[in-house]
Amino acid sequence: AKAKEHINLAFIGHVDHGKSTLVGHLLLQAGVISEQQLAEGEDKFRYVMDRLAEERERGLTIDLAHTKFETKKYEFTIVDCPGHRDFVKNMITGASQADAAVLVVAADDGVMPQTKEHVFLARTLGIDQLIVAINKMDLVDYSEDRYEEVKDEVSELIKTVGYKPKEVPFVAVSAFVGDNITQKSDKTPWYKGPTIVEALDQLKPPEKPVDLPLRIPIQDVYSITGVGTVPVGRVETGVLKTGDNVIFEPPGVGGEVKSIEMHHERIEKAEPGDNIGFNVRGVGKNDIRRGDVAGHPDTPPTVAKQFTAQVVVLQHPGVITVGYTPVFHCHTAQVACTFTELVQKINPATGEVQEENPDYLKTGDAAVVKIQPTKPLVIEKIKDIPHMGRFAIRDMGQTVAAGMCIDLVPAK
Ligand code: GDP
Repeated sequence: AKAKEHINLAFIGHVDHGKSTLVGHLLLQAGVISEQQLAEGEDKFRYVMDRLAEERERGLTIDLAHTKFETKKYEFTIVDCPGHRDFVKNMITGASQADAAVLVVAADDGVMPQTKEHVFLARTLGIDQLIVAINKMDLVDYSEDRYEEVKDEVSELIKTVGYKPKEVPFVAVSAFVGDNITQKSDKTPWYKGPTIVEALDQLKPPEKPVDLPLRIPIQDVYSITGVGTVPVGRVETGVLKTGDNVIFEPPGVGGEVKSIEMHHERIEKAEPGDNIGFNVRGVGKNDIRRGDVAGHPDTPPTVAKQFTAQVVVLQHPGVITVGYTPVFHCHTAQVACTFTELVQKINPATGEVQEENPDYLKTGDAAVVKIQPTKPLVIEKIKDIPHMGRFAIRDMGQTVAAGMCIDLVPAK
């Protein structure tokens, strides 16, 4: 049989709206957890989810293994949910980039603060496809009126950040009872839409950005006897072939690609998503390092002297002012960067300007700012190469903000 296409899936939504319970049912259906574990109740779900998260974390450095389940059409990998410690950072650095998200909204509560936050974050992180699960239908007596009410409320919200509600499937579910997850429920005769599994099968598989310029952020550099210097990394965009000339930025060194390896096998051509090691003639182990980016010499990676960014402050104990210099995590690079200007505060949902030249930014604020890296950094404009234009800002051991580069001044 032909291998199923693969989709990375995030589960987002307000705390306690039923993300873990829904995931539990999907894993159960895929045979990952047993009926007995399911019967032991919701705490078991939490336990299973936490354990899976732990395993994923340990697995990450080895082979990016995540939890998988299959539907008729696709193989899904569940990536972290916002709220889990490193979700934003992992999304941005590509460790767990989601192709689609299931937004879980409890029918009794409707839209809550974290529902809004996660919808905005999903958009900022570039998740294009959304499925909305209106959950806990059992708590509202499977009322069609209540379902329609919440559906309208969610439609309004997702429209403000740019999703098209008409193209987004809404599903009436009870994750607890198991209604409309894998099978149509007889408790919702009025509901004519898809089950969760049917909605998952209607997602579009992510397209490989083969037509964008080549970008391979370097994760590590090895020196292998008999082969030479072997940088390893994942191809984000473009195509690399044996015999190509490549250049590494910021150092500006480069040469001809002698060989490419994936999973210990020689390959002639590497595409987006491939984790590869490759060997470049004339490049020594000390010439390049983690955070450098390989590209073709005619479309070289952009080194920014300064850039304009749109950021959202996720959790900062104090305020952000001009001069603040936290560490930016952008692809595999970690570079301290200074906020040199707070240009405008904007409404995160609508993008409308709220204040010109604000004095400070605090948790929950979105803003346009100017940033100056303290040492050379490769970053691209989001509209040119989306995969290379996002970053997470880390400080005091946590992700304090996320953002994207909307304009830049090249260093050369
Ligand atoms: P999360 O924080 O979004 O992951 O939410 P959980 O999956 O942990 O669920 C929070 C609580 O809501 C738990 O006590 C669940 O048993 C309960 N819950 C989840 N889905 C449903 C549902 O469809 N109906 C009812 N009645 N309770 C649910």
